[in-house]
Amino acid sequence: MSIAPVIKGWCPGALRPMLSGDGLVVRLRVPQGRLTVVQARGVAELSQRYGNGMLDLSNRGNLQLRGIDPARHEGLIDALRALALIDADEHTERRRNLMVTPFWQAGDDTNFLTQQLIAAAQVHALPDVSSKFGYAVDTGQQPVLQGDPADIRFERAAEGQLLLCAEGAEMGKPISLETAVTEAIALATWVRAQGASRAARALAAGATVPSGFDHPRQSGLSTPTLGHYPAGALVACAFGQMDAETLTALANLGPLRLTPWRMVLIEGATALPDLPSLITDAADPLLRVVACIGAPGCAQARGETRELARDLAASVPQGQRLHVSGCAKGCAAPRATDITLTATVPDQYDLIRNGHADAAPDLRGLTPAAIASHLRKSADAP
Ligand code: SF4
Repeated sequence: MSIAPVIKGWCPGALRPMLSGDGLVVRLRVPQGRLTVVQARGVAELSQRYGNGMLDLSNRGNLQLRGIDPARHEGLIDALRALALIDADEHTERRRNLMVTPFWQAGDDTNFLTQQLIAAAQVHALPDVSSKFGYAVDTGQQPVLQGDPADIRFERAAEGQLLLCAEGAEMGKPISLETAVTEAIALATWVRAQGASRAARALAAGATVPSGFDHPRQSGLSTPTLGHYPAGALVACAFGQMDAETLTALANLGPLRLTPWRMVLIEGATALPDLPSLITDAADPLLRVVACIGAPGCAQARGETRELARDLAASVPQGQRLHVSGCAKGCAAPRATDITLTATVPDQYDLIRNGHADAAPDLRGLTPAAIASHLRKSADAP
């Protein structure tokens, strides 16, 4: 019998951490998604001093320290505050939920808008809609964050002008840099007035976006591949997890920009680092699998996830994605994936095609061996 996961309805932060199976999860909303060399080295050292030395990149581009002893949380926060990584209070932290394209350049519109939004969060001008409510600042030539969770998006139309967009709406509103934050506040206030915690939920419940949202958005690019970009080199960590030694080694190469794709951009790097724990080959099968921490790291998990995902990665057809979830909550993949395995009891998984971890299964109660056999047969089928 499977037991429904507990939906806590809020996301952990640093000031409001969440208790997991391995201690507190302390999630850093890194300003502009950028860690300086000093900050990255400092976070690595603190993750060992206060936690279990393991760090996660979240699917919103945040960085989580794991295994924090609750009795030492306050000391950790003081140390992180000294690195300028902690907000003044919990109200600011809740509002400063920003995801930023890692390809921004100093002084560009993304850089400018992000600073404006941070300033608005600091004076609590951004409405407190919910702890999951967030903004994506994605004003490069073509959006790259459309597949990642956000409620209000700043994008660029095909003709080049800035657009304000609500998640779930096909059209955006042309805005200027001067009015962007005021317009975003008005849109967030509108979502809250609908009684919804998320923009897409307000629209799905039948609300109509306010007037002025009448300009076509352009389709975004899919998740970027590993390699070199004008801003630096993009590398990945399996399951978005890295240890403190890896973070220190990355910091030694330059400032780091975090992404929602379990990838890190090493600012200014012109060569891909040769670190055994990093993925630098775009054809690596591990890029085809996502998995939450599962058992025993998460108290809600019904089964193990990452070892199974590693074992199955090579069987996942190129171009497809496998999601292994420790329970029906599906934290690692908020959207549907080609194949999802949801643990129900230890060593048994439900298989879902083209759905989320809580969707009706196509096959139930499969063992790891049965899953491997099923994937092999599917790959061989004409
Ligand atoms: S999906 Fe994974 S991380 Fe999320 S609650 Fe379930 S077991 Fe825990």
